[in-house]
Amino acid sequence: MSAQFLATDSLPFCKGCGHSLVAKGIGQALDAIQGLSPRDVIVVTDIGCIGIIDKEFATHTIHGLHGRSIALASGIRLGLENPGKKIIVLLGDGGATIGMQHLLDAAHRNLDLKVIVHNNMLYGMTGGQPSSLTPCGYKTSIMPEGKADAGIDLVALVAAAGAPMAMRTIASAAMSAQIGDLLAAEGFAFLEVLELCTSHGVKLNPGKSVAAIAKEAGLELKILRNPHASPATILTEVRPSLLEKISPIAREWQRGLPWTQKADRSPSNTARRISIVLAGSAGEGVQTSAEILAQAAMSCGLHVSKKGSYPVTVGIGFSMAEVIISEAPIRYTGAGSPDVLLICSEDGLEKVKGLLNAKGRGMVYLDATLEPAFRRFLGHASDASLQIRAYREIAGAKSALLAAVSHYLRREGELPLEAFEASIRRHMGEKTNLDAIMKDFEA
Ligand code: SF4
Repeated sequence: MSAQFLATDSLPFCKGCGHSLVAKGIGQALDAIQGLSPRDVIVVTDIGCIGIIDKEFATHTIHGLHGRSIALASGIRLGLENPGKKIIVLLGDGGATIGMQHLLDAAHRNLDLKVIVHNNMLYGMTGGQPSSLTPCGYKTSIMPEGKADAGIDLVALVAAAGAPMAMRTIASAAMSAQIGDLLAAEGFAFLEVLELCTSHGVKLNPGKSVAAIAKEAGLELKILRNPHASPATILTEVRPSLLEKISPIAREWQRGLPWTQKADRSPSNTARRISIVLAGSAGEGVQTSAEILAQAAMSCGLHVSKKGSYPVTVGIGFSMAEVIISEAPIRYTGAGSPDVLLICSEDGLEKVKGLLNAKGRGMVYLDATLEPAFRRFLGHASDASLQIRAYREIAGAKSALLAAVSHYLRREGELPLEAFEASIRRHMGEKTNLDAIMKDFEA
């Protein structure tokens, strides 16, 4: 049992599964690194049997979507301010097949990740289906006669993509030294571990050893080193240019906007978390309005989340967006009972009826054309929480929600109007009907 990094000796895999050998090898290799603490290691796992290992490690662990573990790990590497952290990605041949592009891209960019693909030549968790790595002739649950074509030589492919180190081995109880080499390598390092799934692979291919399967398939056990690999992509080199590309808001935030200083930072204001729902019709700029509001709040240094909701028929029916604005980090992005509802079309009203029923407090900004339907539906609504204006008539259907947002901001002062106006200009340019949107609906 590993003393420090692998928290248990009782691993959750089927008896004889190669995953147990790899996990123990990782634990031993980590234990052998002088001065390394579990807090210095981030284990990123994929969907599949290997994904259930993460709870056994005493390190940071993150479990991603199927095939996306390397993309997730790449994001962590590029966003992490401490380049000393070790990031280990554990995935199966199914995850590697689904996320092949992410794997090749990370190798090509020489991101500092240590990737271990557990290649048992089938999808174990879902019943033993073949992956792109399944060798020719290997029997799987949906191909009992054996796979017709050859599996991909992943080590050769990753090396060709530019990885400084790519290795293949067979799962064994003595593989910690090889994993140690992987962990000690600079930049991107890749290890494919050939193993057997005892629940599916062994049953369907009785009597075949991993070594024999590898030999038959021409999968050499080897280490490929690329002396001409590009220098490791590290945070300090990438981050500024990424910021430049990602968002003009981020640039402006870095520079410090004039209204960031002007915004009211009194504790009663800044401690708030406000959830705002924008509801309207498809094609009437609902998502864009929410985006503009969200970016205005971001430019003031606030935390923001935005979620869109619309039918699969994106050109017809309702469109709804939830924006949460908070001084504190947002841990949960739900807005079950929003503080503010902005409604500018019948589709939108129909969609948020449930929310109106659940409300009982908060504010509603409603387009004037919807008042009869609103009263019919919610006759008991208090007028104190209801603002009715001709947003559609004044600003047009496509800008009605922006007009409602500007009315809300002017009335409640949650964000400086300058920030909102600047966000509109960034999204829509100078040609927008800004005067109508920014009209003083309180006058
Ligand atoms: S189903 Fe196969 S891959 Fe999954 S734990 Fe069992 S032996 Fe291992």
